[in-house]
Amino acid sequence: ERRQLNRLRREPTRTLDGVDIKLWANAESRADVAEAHALGAAGVGLYRTEFLFLQRNELPDEEEQFRAYRDVVLGMTGRTVTIRTLDLGADKADRSGLVLDDEPNPALGLRGVRLSLARDALFRTQLRAIVRASGYGPVRVLVPMISCREEIIAVRTMLREVLAEVRKEGQEVAETLPLGAMIEVPAAAIALPTFVGAVDFLSVGTNDLIQYLLAADRNNEALGDVYTPLHPALIRLLHGVIRIAHKRNKPIAVCGEMAGDSTFAPMLLALGLSEFSLHPNTLLELRRAIRGFDLAALRAKAPALVRARDRNAIEGWLRSVGAT
Ligand code: PEP
Ligand code: MG
Repeated sequence: ERRQLNRLRREPTRTLDGVDIKLWANAESRADVAEAHALGAAGVGLYRTEFLFLQRNELPDEEEQFRAYRDVVLGMTGRTVTIRTLDLGADKADRSGLVLDDEPNPALGLRGVRLSLARDALFRTQLRAIVRASGYGPVRVLVPMISCREEIIAVRTMLREVLAEVRKEGQEVAETLPLGAMIEVPAAAIALPTFVGAVDFLSVGTNDLIQYLLAADRNNEALGDVYTPLHPALIRLLHGVIRIAHKRNKPIAVCGEMAGDSTFAPMLLALGLSEFSLHPNTLLELRRAIRGFDLAALRAKAPALVRARDRNAIEGWLRSVGAT
């Protein structure tokens, strides 16, 4: 079983009808990065920078951040690395006092890009470190918790300033860094047409998108099946988001846990998704699953999936396409 999977390390992620699907890795540690590289991931689709800030009392300075980001870029040897800006807050609290620990509703509080924009110096430091790392290989910048157009515009302005500043200091950096928005707040998914022109790419964070869409805490086990990707609201929202992204020629991936569970792969493929970002530990399983599907046949069944009225119908759809 393991041996069979390992044979897929050097195989393309291609459907039965010959369409290549891009598999990115969600990677944080050195080990993740090495594994992502060995498995033939297209690049790092999600590098969560929070861990540099967690479990410590002081903030990492520019140099420390730069070294961490540069090492990931070097580890991927020319494949693109997507660095997500700080997503502290809610369940990701630090000890340096950055995140308010007395918010009544932390999941709805000052987290992600909201915190970054509220802490100008902190954010510029992070952007400087990311921009400097772009001198070592292709880097994209991904912004968490975007809920409106103004936020992405503010980040783009700051990124442009930082890029000019670092270049003026004589450092060799990328010409431009593609800027992307996480789609994980329902407002961003619904209002995507209002800001899709302001981003270079998109990444759907289904962990939070499901949480906010279904008003179901992603970490509350008592909720059982209430928190689930098998909900018509999620399918309809994903359907619209993927369609808009493609119409506007913006690359779009799903980077939440949903992308790493091959059970859901036929749903995402049917909706038109062609990029997945997942932890290396399930990458080969997903590759194997994708290699067993005929994409055209799945796409033809998308209308039935989008029409499904409840979990039962969605599960029936999954059985009908031969998902296991
Ligand atoms: C998500 O919300 O789906 C996501 C990928 O980000 P995180 O799990 O870090 O919140
Ligand atoms: Mg998230």
